[in-house]
Amino acid sequence: MRTIGVLTSGGDAPGMNAAIRAVVRYGIYNDINVLGIKKGYRGLIDNDMEKMDLSSVADIIHRGGTTLGTARCEKFMTKEGFNEALETIKYRDIDGLVVIGGDGSFRGAKELSEAGVKTIGIPGTIDNDLAYTEYTIGFSTALETILDAVTKIRDTSSSHERTIIIEVMGRNCGDLALYSGLAGGAEMVLIPEAKIDIENIAEKITSGMARGKKHSIILLAEGAGDAYDIRDKINKFIDIPIRCTVLGYIQRGGTPVSYDRLLGSRMGAQAVKCLIEGNNNVVLGTKDGKIFHMDIEKALNMKKKFDSEAFELTKILSI
Ligand code: ADP
Repeated sequence: MRTIGVLTSGGDAPGMNAAIRAVVRYGIYNDINVLGIKKGYRGLIDNDMEKMDLSSVADIIHRGGTTLGTARCEKFMTKEGFNEALETIKYRDIDGLVVIGGDGSFRGAKELSEAGVKTIGIPGTIDNDLAYTEYTIGFSTALETILDAVTKIRDTSSSHERTIIIEVMGRNCGDLALYSGLAGGAEMVLIPEAKIDIENIAEKITSGMARGKKHSIILLAEGAGDAYDIRDKINKFIDIPIRCTVLGYIQRGGTPVSYDRLLGSRMGAQAVKCLIEGNNNVVLGTKDGKIFHMDIEKALNMKKKFDSEAFELTKILSI
């Protein structure tokens, strides 16, 4: 390994900078040239990258987002764009590539590995929607951000004795809604993994009110439906004021919590170690607090198991 490239792709996630920093510094520590590729796969196509030195990653470990920039690059998915990316890799003598991103970015990494590029994937996405790993970089920070919002909304919802629907990110995976619901003491959690029964939601709100509950907090994952639409459907059963809050992009930003910085630092170093040791075309994950690597294709073919225990517990604890 003489030269490696690192890029961040897809949705940004807090902790990606810690991972970039670790790739750069662990690489330099091992006498490897590290190229910082700009804006994900876009930078590979456009040959937009720069040689990183120790100070290129100074003062970034605490910052959200990604200092390399990121993009959703449609052109990379075309034959022409993909071949241009391969040409840049050859032209720049890149011996190994670290891709920090989510499911889509890993599919791109898999294509590159099949074309002969030694590639390592680091899971960076707030959604925690990758089946093979317990946690992804960014998830814990987003969870804290949501929990902070839930706690604040709880105050007003309790003062006004109101039902409130809080919509959070998560298109295919309800982990953000599920765990912030459990940690925030929500009355209900609506996620794409579980069927939604509007009549049952209305009954639960009514019985809660009857026994003196001051509020009902419903955590909704975006993939399970639209907050306003669900409100209207509930209102067909019970005529009470329901407020909706869609949290949006605040969930993506902010200074990464310690767990995401630790995960980023460890995984960044581990990715370079994998390349040095010849464990190529793998993605990194966590299990029981340890970092492991797994074949990209195998990881992408796994189906995410839904934490039904946490889901049931949320219901029991909010009776
Ligand atoms: P994330 O990595 O956060 O899931 P995206 O799904 O937007 O984000 O993927 C990021 C980028 O990865 C895409 O813009 C595209 O360049 C690349 N990509 C996504 N899916 C594929 C695929 N099936 N094959 C090749 N590249 C892909």
